[in-house]
Amino acid sequence: MRALVIRGHGDLSQLQLTDVSPPRVADPGDVLVRVQAAALNHLDLWTLRGLPGLSLEFPHVLGADGAGIVAEVGDGVARIAVGDRVMINPGICCYRCKECRAGEQSQCERFALLGEHRSGTLAEYVVVPEHNVLPVPTLPDSLLALSWAEAAAFPLVTLTAWRMLVTRARLQHGERVFIWGIGGGVSSAALAIAKLKGAFVIVTSSSKRKLEIARRLGADVTLDHTNQDVVREVRQLTGERGVDVVVDNVGEATWDRSLRLLARGGRLVTCGATAGAKAQIDVRRLFWHQWTILGSTMGSAAEFHEIMRLLGHGRLRPVMDATYPLDRAVDAFLRLERGEQLGKIAVEMS
Ligand SMILES: [Zn+2]
Repeated sequence: MRALVIRGHGDLSQLQLTDVSPPRVADPGDVLVRVQAAALNHLDLWTLRGLPGLSLEFPHVLGADGAGIVAEVGDGVARIAVGDRVMINPGICCYRCKECRAGEQSQCERFALLGEHRSGTLAEYVVVPEHNVLPVPTLPDSLLALSWAEAAAFPLVTLTAWRMLVTRARLQHGERVFIWGIGGGVSSAALAIAKLKGAFVIVTSSSKRKLEIARRLGADVTLDHTNQDVVREVRQLTGERGVDVVVDNVGEATWDRSLRLLARGGRLVTCGATAGAKAQIDVRRLFWHQWTILGSTMGSAAEFHEIMRLLGHGRLRPVMDATYPLDRAVDAFLRLERGEQLGKIAVEMS
């Protein structure tokens, strides 16, 4: 089968479109999916560059997000049949341990991501457990049907942003949310979810074009973090109070400002550190203002079901940036690496 692989860790020159052996259904609970579209995530760039503790066999197929048609099922598969159109939850766990049985699959000790710890979706076929697929929902008549690219682009960032805002930060109607860097997939999903929950949303970008798009997507206030003092602007906007929730996937570069944006009792929620992993905190400010700092990774099976239900009702939909054919997947990565996108970049297989 054709696949986009990395031949080793490094830069984009390690990417190669090549033929590899297709994966096989090895476990009775596995399904083989003929991928129709995959979507890129920042995770793919981290995997390409190499992560501490990550040891891969090369060539390695990248890609966490994908959607397609079931081509084969293991003997133990009951809920999914050959020919089903499915979307993939990229977070794979053991489904047996205490955390998994308690419904906290992303806290499983064996938690792994497609394309990072095992062969991914940027290929004509991928194998995943039956638990990790759900049928592509049929949207109400008044809404356009989902494209394969949209189906592929939805799960990872929406699940991540849902857990961050709804499960971890317990976002309430009318609260104020601040989101750094609206171009990223998690940030644009967080904007959609925060608006769905009735929050007042402030977003930032260094790009005028992206801020305009963010306004069309429902952002209440847009700030350019390269030439505006965001802390001062937010203090003014909120009558010196600050915001209730900050979504920070940037890390070191924004951490101190994220804390200064928080109101008393505010929550900072993070799922990534794209610009530096070490951050500092003044413990006196932490306890005096009664802040909460929340880490979040992917989401649970129940959260995946919930976002899929909202997708089916037309209440959530991925923000799409661009779609490339598999032949031009390297160009898609170039766009992601340069940070030119607002929303998701997808790759279609045929
Ligand atoms: Zn487990």
